Amino acid sequence: MSELTQLAPDFIRAIAPYKAGKPVSDVVRELGLDPAKVVKLASNENPLGLGGKAQAAIARAVADLGRYPDANGFALKAKIAAKHGIQPEQVTLGNGSNDILELAAKAFLTHGTNSVFSQYAFAVYPLATQGCGAQSKVVPAVAYTHDLDGFLAAIDEQTRVVFIANPNNPTGTFLKQDVLLSFLAKVPSRVLVVLDEAYNEFLKPEDQYDSTQWVAQFPNLLVSRSFSKAYGLAGLRVGYAVSGTQVADLLNRVRQPFNVNSIALAAAEAALDDHDFLQQTYEVNQAGLALLQSSFQAMGLEYVPSYGNFVLLKVGSTDDAGLKVFDALQRLGVIVRPVNNYGLPQWLRVSIGLPEENKAFLQALPQALKVLA
Ligand code: PMP
Repeated sequence: MSELTQLAPDFIRAIAPYKAGKPVSDVVRELGLDPAKVVKLASNENPLGLGGKAQAAIARAVADLGRYPDANGFALKAKIAAKHGIQPEQVTLGNGSNDILELAAKAFLTHGTNSVFSQYAFAVYPLATQGCGAQSKVVPAVAYTHDLDGFLAAIDEQTRVVFIANPNNPTGTFLKQDVLLSFLAKVPSRVLVVLDEAYNEFLKPEDQYDSTQWVAQFPNLLVSRSFSKAYGLAGLRVGYAVSGTQVADLLNRVRQPFNVNSIALAAAEAALDDHDFLQQTYEVNQAGLALLQSSFQAMGLEYVPSYGNFVLLKVGSTDDAGLKVFDALQRLGVIVRPVNNYGLPQWLRVSIGLPEENKAFLQALPQALKVLA
């Protein structure tokens, strides 16, 4: 290591970079596969791709690319505010909801403070925390989900942020609204609760709730939403937070001036109106999820019942099982996600795809599992 890089803070050098799902192009190059036959079920993307309304908005927005984007995202914020019945000043836009998570960390965390989150919670929480030189307090999961009583016990004087993904990635678990509300009532009001709802739109109607309405009662609540999943805009990077205006004001101080590009702003605005696309997405996901889970059951494979657009599947009982089956599937042209970095080396996470993609995965799976024999 050079003297230069050695002088970077220890907490930065200790960061283990985020491991993204493998792009199709990498797998095609490495294994010499036919790109048309490779199925990617590794990044919880929308298998339908981009909705028609977003596509049309993107085509229109291209003409204006010589200009900077609207730094305050006026039109998109207004639309989001109308959707939730809140003030535009309560909305913060992000370069993906990942940006929102980092802005929350940057605004509240520093040396000597900590964040609280669950074992098996989304990998960006420790990254965002460490990037600020703060400590992560990881609460053991109960039944693969957040133990909110454990969170309350872990919160101390130095806690500034709590991260809860609902549904959670990579486990797909879900906490019902009464559990969240009773937690919020007990969390000290000086602690920011980041409720990360990247997968909210995949919930069944009976599980849906609108936590943005709770911000009025809990000014320490920040709800994060993504356009990358159900809205199909993963490549554009756009998400948002709903919070009290004081929290939004702080996030606004630490964000880049133009953190959401003009194509993303236009596409997100149009996507919010594309109710048919959202409904179709929901239906494709429900059908795919039901098929995968019933097939796992029929094969005698353990899985965590999912509320998202992916399922966590146990593929073996040794700590090399996940990577071995991942590799075997990849050779058969199916890319899924190993989750050994989450401390789940015997498991794989599989995103729900189109019917033919799910079928290709289910056909490849028994063969791939033979590597463990
Ligand atoms: N939160 C959770 C729980 C996620 O799984 C993801 C994506 N993997 C994100 C946030 C970030 O998504 P994006 O930045 O694309 O909105």
